[in-house]
This record gives sequence, C-alpha cells and structure tokens, in this order.
Amino acid sequence: MRISVKKLLIATHNRGKLREFQTLLAPLRIEVLCAGDLGLPEPEETGATFADNALLKAHAAMKATGLPTLADDSGLCVNALGGEPALHTARWCGLQKDPMVGMERVQKELGDAADRSAYFICVLALVLPDGGQEEVVEGRCAGNIVWPPRGTLGHGYDPFFVPDGHACTFGEMSAAEKQAISHRGHALEKLLALLTTP
Ligand code: IMP
Repeated sequence: MRISVKKLLIATHNRGKLREFQTLLAPLRIEVLCAGDLGLPEPEETGATFADNALLKAHAAMKATGLPTLADDSGLCVNALGGEPALHTARWCGLQKDPMVGMERVQKELGDAADRSAYFICVLALVLPDGGQEEVVEGRCAGNIVWPPRGTLGHGYDPFFVPDGHACTFGEMSAAEKQAISHRGHALEKLLALLTTP
C-alpha cells in the first residue's frame, strides 16, 4: 500500500529525535511539524510494548490536530540486564531527563559483566486521519556499551554505544553516519517505502 502525505506531524517533544526525522524526511519534501512546537501535551506512556506507546502517542496527536502523524517509541535493551532498560530507557534518566544519569545506571548495573552487548530499538507508528489507518514498523541497531562515554554529537545514550562494525560511539558520529545504520534510520527506511508525496 502506498500512502500519500503532504504534511506530517511528528509526535515528539525530543529535539534530538526531531532533528533526525527532519533530516531523514528531507528528500521527500514533506512539510514536517512537531508536537512540541504546536504546544500539544505529552501523553503518558502507559503501553506494555514499544508499539503500544508509539500508537498511543500518534493517535493522541492526530486526534488533537487532524494531521497525519508519526510517533516513535524507542529504547536501549542491554542483553546482560535481561533486556532492560527497554521501555524504561527514558525513566532511567531521572526526573531531570539527564542521559548521563541513565548511562551511569546502565554502567553500574552491568558492573564487570563480560557481555556488554545491547541494541537500540525504534518502533514508528504512522496514523492517518479519516479512518485512522495505521502502519507500524520497527528498526534495530546492535552494538556494545563502552565506558566512559565518548563524543558530544547525537543525543540521549549515544555517547556510550558503539554500533557493531564500528570503532566510534554514536556520540562521535555525524548525523548522516548514524542515520545510515541506526534503529531510527532502519525503521524510517521501512516507513518511507510506504509513503509517496502527492
Ligand atoms: P521515548 O521513546 O521518548 O520513550 O524515550 C526513549 C529513550 O531512549 C530516551 O531516553 C532516549 O534518550 C533514548 N534513545 C532513543 N533513541 C536514541 C538514540 O538514537 N540515541 C540515544 N538514545 C536514544
């Protein structure tokens, strides 16, 4: 199925994610708006899965605006921690939403574990007005946790994650380098295959 979209609302208040979406969507010449700029509230993420949360955010913003809406729910899954922090990735950053706090917690819980493998996951939900057609896609990026964190680029947990096949952390990569291999990049590739501009 091909979906035609001229204007797309990104249901995020996270500047880092928004920047990535704007870059990734630029070739399609879709007008991109952001939930934060429109003053929309941030719904509570009460879902049991990444897909539940992405759909919940997309539906809330679509209902408030009547616009085709894309929402992302993402997180970091650390294998030696039984897949945590997963849905709790943002929460591990504390009330101040400080990614250093989240990275320190992961590092503390990992201790001297030999297995430092992890993956980022991104689930994207696209919800359209007029019938509420929805599409859900998922992207992953596997790698390893390093300590101390390195690099000032990117956002969130980027500085302590080295993707497989690379020596740099996401925090040391340009936006283009990261997006070519990232969980969000992979998910968006799948979604773009469904979109056409009118
Ligand atoms: P949510 O999707 O807004 O619920 O939160 C996702 C959490 O995962 C936040 O703490 C983000 O910082 C983190 N996260 C998601 N994607 C990335 C990424 O590409 N790099 C680094 N951290 C990320």
